[in-house]
Amino acid sequence: MRCLYCYKAVFGNDGLTVPSEGAAHQNCFQANQALKRTFQSLEITALNDKELQELKEIVLAEENSRNRVEEEDDGIELF
Ligand SMILES: [Zn+2]
Repeated sequence: MRCLYCYKAVFGNDGLTVPSEGAAHQNCFQANQALKRTFQSLEITALNDKELQELKEIVLAEENSRNRVEEEDDGIELF
């Protein structure tokens, strides 16, 4: 078996199995995980530009709506 990342042979203790992808060296796998930008199960680097833009807009909209709720709470406390 060959490593997914460096394509060199993987031997026993060195290796691990990446689900649905194949074998990899532990070191290569860890290095790759560190490079990946993932949020929970979402792989940000796998998104295309349009999807990334949509994600950004969703995050901003959520942030705005939370800020608005906080401001409304402040308003209520004044009465
Ligand atoms: Zn490797």
